[in-house]
Amino acid sequence: MDNMTQLYTALLLVASINNIALLYILLRRPERSAVVILFALFLIAITSWGVPQFIINWNKAGIGLYSYLDRFSALGYVTLPAIFFTFSLAFTRKLHVLKNILLSAYVFVPGIVFLFLSWSTNLIDNHSPEAIVVNRWGYNSPPGIYFPYFLGWLESLMIASIGVLAFFYRSTSHALQRRQAIMLIVAILIPLVFGTITDGILPIFNIHIFPSAVPLTTIMAIIIGYAIMRYELFNFEPQTILSSLGDGLLTLNTKGRIISSNDVAEKLIGKSESELHHKKLYGILEHEKNHDDQKIERYIKEGKKLSSSEYVLVSNHKRLPVSVTLTPIELDKKIVGATLLIKDIKDEKKREESKDEFISIASHELKTPITSIKLYSDILGKKISQNSKEYTLVANLQEQVNRMVLLTNDLLDLSRIRTGSMHLHLELFDLPELITTIVATIRKTDPDRIIIVKGKVDKKVYADKNRIAQVVTNLISNAVKYSPQSTKVIVTLKLQDSNVMVKVKDYGQGIPAAQQNKIFNRFYRVDGAMTDQPSLGIGLYISSNIIKHHKGKIWVESAPSKGSTFIFTIPLGRQQNPKQ
Ligand code: ADP
Repeated sequence: MDNMTQLYTALLLVASINNIALLYILLRRPERSAVVILFALFLIAITSWGVPQFIINWNKAGIGLYSYLDRFSALGYVTLPAIFFTFSLAFTRKLHVLKNILLSAYVFVPGIVFLFLSWSTNLIDNHSPEAIVVNRWGYNSPPGIYFPYFLGWLESLMIASIGVLAFFYRSTSHALQRRQAIMLIVAILIPLVFGTITDGILPIFNIHIFPSAVPLTTIMAIIIGYAIMRYELFNFEPQTILSSLGDGLLTLNTKGRIISSNDVAEKLIGKSESELHHKKLYGILEHEKNHDDQKIERYIKEGKKLSSSEYVLVSNHKRLPVSVTLTPIELDKKIVGATLLIKDIKDEKKREESKDEFISIASHELKTPITSIKLYSDILGKKISQNSKEYTLVANLQEQVNRMVLLTNDLLDLSRIRTGSMHLHLELFDLPELITTIVATIRKTDPDRIIIVKGKVDKKVYADKNRIAQVVTNLISNAVKYSPQSTKVIVTLKLQDSNVMVKVKDYGQGIPAAQQNKIFNRFYRVDGAMTDQPSLGIGLYISSNIIKHHKGKIWVESAPSKGSTFIFTIPLGRQQNPKQ
């Protein structure tokens, strides 16, 4: 064998081993997306082209075996353009363009025709023994008369693939995806372009130089192998990740139109990707109660986040309760759209409803017997002399009964809030006076505690006195409950424009930042909060609802082990007529 033939044969062998190894690595990976399958087909095609070429040259096989094997390798190079073009579409997520029948026909039909011609005639490659050329690279069959058509089709698909990948490179801002696109262009297209020159175009003019197509795929295999390991090629397949996401995800443009959807979103809405494409959310996603359909669109434009459990998906006349999380997408400091995560909360809602129902029934049923017990214990307290031995028993009984009354009242309030039947009874009252009374009552149960009241409000407040008392009591009791006996509690009152502000400060255990928002949720209690008092975790939920009903605000400022300050503001409300 000539040195050149040996080199060429060795390159063919390395190329084939590399491609088979790559195929093995690829098929061992867990995901089977279209991109992975098409790339595997691509590897199979170039392997079935390279291996016969290797056998021919290695064996110096007779002309008979050569023409047989050469026909076989047509399976590889004839199908390659269609496979690679489809792969480029899949990689750039444009596979849907193949729904166009004409385009599909152009991509696939010529391949089948050329393959048939290549196997059964000499029109593509002239495999007839008389025509075969033997030169220093081994056997070569000259191009048949239809070969230029085949080459034209092949080149057109290769150029289209470069176009698709280059367009993708330009339009994506994702650094990793850009690198992957460049790698694919360099790794696959350059060998193919050179290969078609040496193996396709030049032979037409009867020029036979080194046939580079198959050996160059060795380089390709190395580059792609490197890309798989280094640049997570095929690993980072956003579409796969999105479809494996348990929740629905939509991406929206700045006008609030749907750009893309994952499988779960399509299933929840009951529409396909193409039906959803470019649609507005209007008519698909509605707010449970109010009719502000523009809210999400407005938030997208303003680049604001939104998180709410009060939305419903409307599909086929069914209404599915969902929670939504809208997150703006920012590129170069410009809002370009948003993602909308949609979570089915039907089961959660049902569970909540049965919890609410249970709480409502239980608290209503408990109310009557507890009121009677309280009545009897009060009568008993009055009948028994304070000096008698039994008096402490009765006092203990009364204390526990009072706690029970408070707890059932809280539960009743909870179900009122949930059913929307909490009503305010507004009146004009003196807030400092109310706070002084509350502090005095709390001091009675805890005489050693230092509770300081500061500030003044010289205007009356128009609000629900009992409800505001409930909030203040809750905040001061919490301050007492969650701080050591030796520390003080400071209550500050202030007028701020047309609002009153009440601050309750303690020097207790404080609340970690991550939980500060959650403590206003019902049944929420901070992990490891130390208290020996009974607690349901609904006091702050009720308080925040009362404040919301008054169109006010409530929040907390706190640092662990430094203490907490709970603050609320409410509007002063309608003022007294000066003449009165
Ligand atoms: P409860 O006190 O009955 O558990 P709340 O709704 O009043 O319910 O409070 C919710 C949770 O917030 C409490 O369980 C506690 O963990 C935390 N919390 C409330 N007030 C304070 C405070 N002043 N200091 C520290 N933690 C507090």
